[in-house]
Amino acid sequence: VIMMGQAEHSVVTTCAYCGVGCGFKAEMKGQEVVRMVPWKDGQANRGHSCVKGRFAWGYTTHKERVLKPMIRKRITDSWKEVSWDEAINYAASEFRRIQGQYGRDAVGGITSSRCTNEETWLVQKLVRAAFGTNNVDTCARVCHSPTGYGLKQTLGESAGTQTFDSVMHTDVVIVMGANPSSGHPVFASRLKRRLRQGARLIVIDPRRIELVSSPHIKADFHLQVRPGTNTALLSSLAHVIATERLIDEAFVAERCEAKSFKEWRDFVSLPENSPEAMEEITGVPAQAVRGAARLYATGGNGSIYYGLGVTEHSQGSTTVMAIANLAMATGNVGREGVGVNPLRGQNNVQGSCDMGSFPHELPGYRHISDDTVRSQFERDWGVTLQPEPGLRIPNMFEAALAGSFKGLYCQGEDIVQSDPNTQHVAASLAAMECIVVQDLFLNETAKYAHVFLPGSSFLEKDGTFTNAERRISRVRKVMEPKNGKSDWEVTVALSNALGYPMDYRHPSEIMDEIARLTPTFAGVSYDKLDRMGSLQWPCNDDAPDGTPIMHIDEFVRGKGRFMITKYVPTDERSTRRFPLLLTTGRILSQYNVGAQTRRTPNVVWHGEDLLELHPQDAEDRGVRDGDWVGVQSRAGETVLRATLTDRVQPGVVYTTFHFPESGANVVTTDSSDWATNCPEYKVTAVQVTRVSQP
Ligand code: SF4
Repeated sequence: VIMMGQAEHSVVTTCAYCGVGCGFKAEMKGQEVVRMVPWKDGQANRGHSCVKGRFAWGYTTHKERVLKPMIRKRITDSWKEVSWDEAINYAASEFRRIQGQYGRDAVGGITSSRCTNEETWLVQKLVRAAFGTNNVDTCARVCHSPTGYGLKQTLGESAGTQTFDSVMHTDVVIVMGANPSSGHPVFASRLKRRLRQGARLIVIDPRRIELVSSPHIKADFHLQVRPGTNTALLSSLAHVIATERLIDEAFVAERCEAKSFKEWRDFVSLPENSPEAMEEITGVPAQAVRGAARLYATGGNGSIYYGLGVTEHSQGSTTVMAIANLAMATGNVGREGVGVNPLRGQNNVQGSCDMGSFPHELPGYRHISDDTVRSQFERDWGVTLQPEPGLRIPNMFEAALAGSFKGLYCQGEDIVQSDPNTQHVAASLAAMECIVVQDLFLNETAKYAHVFLPGSSFLEKDGTFTNAERRISRVRKVMEPKNGKSDWEVTVALSNALGYPMDYRHPSEIMDEIARLTPTFAGVSYDKLDRMGSLQWPCNDDAPDGTPIMHIDEFVRGKGRFMITKYVPTDERSTRRFPLLLTTGRILSQYNVGAQTRRTPNVVWHGEDLLELHPQDAEDRGVRDGDWVGVQSRAGETVLRATLTDRVQPGVVYTTFHFPESGANVVTTDSSDWATNCPEYKVTAVQVTRVSQP
């Protein structure tokens, strides 16, 4: 805490929006924030910020914020305000009743990528130790779970390889399925600085994002891939690298498995993977693919940055592995300026995954069936843990509809608005008997809840977030929780009421437990974080100051493993009934489902989600700019206002998903990634028709 004269002081903390993890100084007058100032010593942002972190914190005092716990027996009843004790005891008794009636595995929990590492740790611990089941999953299921899977298979660790600063040493950048200018603005400005210095740029995206052509930047290649064909495109890039002898043979021989490399090279060299053969599938001219492949392989340090346009597909995990294959084949891993870099959407996606929020993995990405690892937790926690993986979020929904899953503890996640196929999610929730929602607002999911536990905002909590570069930063309480309890205290109280005692005096003690049980966090403590500013994991005896760049001398798994990444077409293809392909994204001033940005009065925000439609498709349908259009898919139908633009190609439409009224996820389907069940948000076959105003 830095004192700034009699009435003012400031507290250094971390932005709770995107995965850049900017440091801020909250300037305070008493318990009121006067302004948020980007922290010049913030190691992720170095004094920069975007409009969201700087101005969009007013939601913390919004009048719709719920500050009192509430319960109701049926979702058709009105909410009744109760004491914390009554709400928590009611939730605990309902969970125990359900387990008694339907079995131990009839309940589960969902952790949030918006919450701190410490809060997430406690929720997964509660589910495993107090509930006695592995039915715990994270909202990262619906965004970056393929990153965790794909990078672990190939490189051995479920995380990005670089620091953000590394981009200043790159010569060729591939940006794939990400729009950093909107989604990760502070990283985007660093990337643009490097591009203005002369680094070359390849954009792979169905949409002409801002980076493709802006006043001082022009991409060398924009591979405007047809939605759903990423894996085919990467196979054609790999084909050029393999057949034109652009492989870094020395790197591969020293660092990678010989057998998997040979199989991969034989596979990508097949004529069916050539850019010419793939052109009809991907829609990308073969010559552009050849040029981009040559540039990436021979242009010096090559780096790849990717986002949800890679992961949120039925082949999301395959595409992540194909990216890692490309980086290994060209020797672009293990030093500054190169690497494979997932741009994480939410502030703590990395952390929520690190903390063991997956039903098959304990913290640190160790499989629940590993007896040695499980016994460490059993000794420390004093319980017996189940050795079998639990249910993923989509499986919880299916089990609810089948009648075997009845109780859910959902912290900081609006699954009704953010998960695909809203109707399916809503029906699943309606079939449950006890849903506990812990959140700031009565969100869409709370409509199905029986217990509402008011959450605290990032300004009211102590803890840590882990950003997209594995950087663990402190979140510091700048004011007392307006609801009277920190989120971690609520989880502790619930666990105690369930009969599994938890006892912590401060989140620092939770971090001490994390460090004790998670090898990659073994050297992390609040004292060290205060001293160092932040730490990038792995941080342990081998790397006491953390690890900015991974896989330097060898891959975490030893030798890098190439994976065969055969293109399998998605079911979401254009048909006569649904001839257009819908893809989705975000805008700069809104954030995900808009729970916070829609409730901030500081600036005039964009007021609605729009459907981008190519003028040619619009003309075919008699749609003019600003008309209302119906968007129909096999899952459902919604209405949006059309904006005509050639940012999208003919045959492709695009929208954002910030407003519940627009209901983008009413039309997205429950197709999902084959390995992780990450939903296929990024491609939905739709029809668009002109309608009168809704
Ligand atoms: Fe917050 Fe991300 Fe903006 Fe930084 S770039 S201020 S972390 S939203």
